[in-house]
Amino acid sequence: MLAVWLLLWAGAGWSTGYAMAGLLVGMALYLAFHMVQTFKLHAWLVSDERRHAPDGSGVWEEIYLEFHQITQRSRKRKKHLRNMLAEFQASTAALPDGAVVIDAQGRIVWFNEAATSLLDLQSPKDVGQRIVNLLRNPGFISYMADPSEQRQVEIPAPTREEGVLMLRLIPYGNNQRLLIARDVSHQKQIDAMRRDFVANASHELRTPLTVLRGYLEMMNEETGEGDALARWTGPVREMSSQAWRMSRIIEDLLKLARVESDGMHQRQEEVDVPSMLQRLMADVRRNNAKNHRFSADIGEGLFLFGRPNELESVFSNLVLNAIQYTPVDGEIEVRWWSDSQGLLFSVTDTGIGIPAQHIERLTERFYRVDAARSTATGGTGLGLAIVKHCLEHHDAELDIASEPNHGSTFTCRFPRARLRSRQAA
Ligand code: ADP
Repeated sequence: MLAVWLLLWAGAGWSTGYAMAGLLVGMALYLAFHMVQTFKLHAWLVSDERRHAPDGSGVWEEIYLEFHQITQRSRKRKKHLRNMLAEFQASTAALPDGAVVIDAQGRIVWFNEAATSLLDLQSPKDVGQRIVNLLRNPGFISYMADPSEQRQVEIPAPTREEGVLMLRLIPYGNNQRLLIARDVSHQKQIDAMRRDFVANASHELRTPLTVLRGYLEMMNEETGEGDALARWTGPVREMSSQAWRMSRIIEDLLKLARVESDGMHQRQEEVDVPSMLQRLMADVRRNNAKNHRFSADIGEGLFLFGRPNELESVFSNLVLNAIQYTPVDGEIEVRWWSDSQGLLFSVTDTGIGIPAQHIERLTERFYRVDAARSTATGGTGLGLAIVKHCLEHHDAELDIASEPNHGSTFTCRFPRARLRSRQAA
């Protein structure tokens, strides 16, 4: 194309005796044409209105077409992203849970509508602020510092008296975290109502049951051979033992309700666990009716920061269960020690063991592997539920390992932060 154009101009120049000049004029015109097209392209690219490509000829037509297609594609992509962003913002705004995006330095990047009302955040003032400066709850601050210790944390709602929020951190991307805040006040209220109901019902049953038990005991003592009531001896004894059982269940229900409701507010202190366990072991050895062999390996000076009543309840429940579910002449070992992760308490017995499918559910209220056996041995089915709640108050976990007919090991793991080392006396 260029060659034909130049030949034409060279030919025209040659016919007038100026072939070189003709060639130069041809070249200059050619260059001028391309410069005009380049300016046109530039003007089109910087203009706001790029819907229609300018007209061009030759190679410029193809260039305009290609550019036009690229801008169309990017316009479509932008529109798609804009729509997606709008949809994402609309859906997060509709979420009842507060959502806050936090960067690697703990600063707020973005939050939704619900976070405004739940966490008292203000937009745009609080964007860029450190979240721990705005939510100044000690539990939340330590959770932010080390979320691996617990899955979530509950804090009093900053905007509502008596309200409770559950906060959960979800890590994602490049050290970013998403904080989810859920209002659990209603659920807490229902839980409290259920607890209060069980506690009140148990309390109301306690007095009439005490009266019944008193009379049954009197009848038990007074029904002897030759007596007019002699044939009632068996039934009265049975009634008396069932009344005792009911009393034990009521006492355990009240204990569970107490642990659930005010456990969190109970004072915590440095508990001398070694002495507590020595006392407990002396007690069980004294009352050893089944000729069990006891051994105890109790780490000296390992104190635990916690609530003494609840810890005593955990240790005695686990030891008494081992005694209850281990036949005559069995062995029971109690250990208290520390490792790199924390403090551990375990009870190992050579008793009847627990089939694997039951282990998961043992801490449920009234769950018993063999209800008849538990009842016969005086169990209420509430011991491990009490243990679980007490351990929760100490951020501790219960591990159960067991093999039917060989025995079981119940291990409690307390976090290292609760260890208080003391010189052994
Ligand atoms: P219970 O009052 O019936 O002992 P718990 O809540 O203390 O209630 O225990 C629940 C169930 O777990 C028991 O009924 C029993 O079946 C089982 N269990 C608990 N400890 C042991 C153990 N050391 N060996 C075997 N089974 C056990």
